Amino acid sequence: ATAFAGKDVALFGLGGSGIATALALIAGECSVIAWDDNPDRVAEASEAGIPVGDLRTIDWSGKAALVLAPGVPLTHPKPHWSVDLARGAGVEIIGDIELFVRERRKQAPDCPFIAITGTNGKSTTTALVAHILEEAGRDTQMGGNIGTAIMTLEPPRAGRFFVVECSSYQVDLSPSINPSAGLLLNLSPDHLDRHGTMQHYAEVKERLVAGSDVAIVGTDDQWCTLIADRLERASTRVIRISKRNVLADGYYAEGSKIMRASGGTAHIVADLAGIATLRGAHNAQNAAAAIAACIAVGLSEEEILSGLASFAGLAHRMQPVARHGRVLFVNDSKATNADAAAPALSSFKRIYWIAGGLPKDGGIRSLSSWYSHIAKAYLIGEAAPQFAATLGDDVAYEITETLDRAVARAAADAAEDSDEEPVVLLSPACASFDQYKNFEIRGNAFVDSVAQLPDVTMLVD
Ligand code: ADP
Repeated sequence: ATAFAGKDVALFGLGGSGIATALALIAGECSVIAWDDNPDRVAEASEAGIPVGDLRTIDWSGKAALVLAPGVPLTHPKPHWSVDLARGAGVEIIGDIELFVRERRKQAPDCPFIAITGTNGKSTTTALVAHILEEAGRDTQMGGNIGTAIMTLEPPRAGRFFVVECSSYQVDLSPSINPSAGLLLNLSPDHLDRHGTMQHYAEVKERLVAGSDVAIVGTDDQWCTLIADRLERASTRVIRISKRNVLADGYYAEGSKIMRASGGTAHIVADLAGIATLRGAHNAQNAAAAIAACIAVGLSEEEILSGLASFAGLAHRMQPVARHGRVLFVNDSKATNADAAAPALSSFKRIYWIAGGLPKDGGIRSLSSWYSHIAKAYLIGEAAPQFAATLGDDVAYEITETLDRAVARAAADAAEDSDEEPVVLLSPACASFDQYKNFEIRGNAFVDSVAQLPDVTMLVD
């Protein structure tokens, strides 16, 4: 990154992406001093060749910027102490996305940059956009909040497409973000514990689309609708997305079909029926937004189709992992609370549901509208007795305690079902920590145990 060549920069936060960012700055001839509250991370950074030093004791007067690593919040719950010091010294505070934004502006201002934010569906949409671009033969780099630190991607250059997932922390730290296409999928108050007030959260997310050449906004919630209206009044080019309403202009879902409308006339751009990784209304929102973004950066409607059809989905998020006859096995281990389990329960009609783990406040009471989709529940972990009490007489269940037993029992029951596609679904509505280190390991354990069943066809490695 050459945006700070020859300048002095302080960096706070030395997790994996902090280290990657520091190294990229150093490679760009920037002089860096880095620190973390965790001494192990400081030691690791030092071993990696990054100059380290306690930012409380440095002279801030010559610093060009404080770079905060992803995950270090600017404003919430309160500014980090390094933020106070930088502010006190009048030093600007930015994050890694801003470094990329400046690099792009300097090196290749016309290279397509698609930035994606929202409360839910960010990673799915980011992965889908990148996959469509790759299938269409474009030189594509994907990163940001989805996993790969943005500063470790190949550098901006003409004709290279960047697809970047942005958390609200990252947008907060990118004052001049200006994507070619900015996507704001949806806003809901789910994560307010981490983001302070809804007002602030919405304002931060709005900035991403407000700075975009084309703003693609999901208008199925009140907050995003207001944002779309406001952007239009400010003469930003807005493309609306809806998973439930017919639009005169924009992209909307009609059943499994994604429609593209202009001036009141619409045609089908894609049909998601048969794409197992893009089931459910929430995925229609993600897919419609992804299609709009790809078309906004110059792909033809034909070019998007093969990428849509071959999208493998993201691991642990409503991911089809195996088939046995008519039975489909789906790994939705990422659903660590009831709200997160709702999309999967709503997307399938005949479900053998594996749930439980470490329960969250409220349990599964909010899921009662989907009980009619559940053929039977298999309850595991600490939550089992509580979930059993909630299901009561409304849903058949058994307490299987372990995931292995749940898989064996659910697979046996589903095999007897005459429905055209019974689904064995792991969507636990619980944290994993009582039995597993994290949701990924729980999801992998599910896949392993499905792979042990006789005669299953695995859809994943
Ligand atoms: P994020 O990156 O925003 O956390 P993901 O794409 O990883 O979102 O999806 C996580 C979960 O959120 C999915 O398994 C699904 O249950 C739910 N989800 C995905 N897309 C949407 C959407 N557009 N609206 C509501 N919920 C969604």
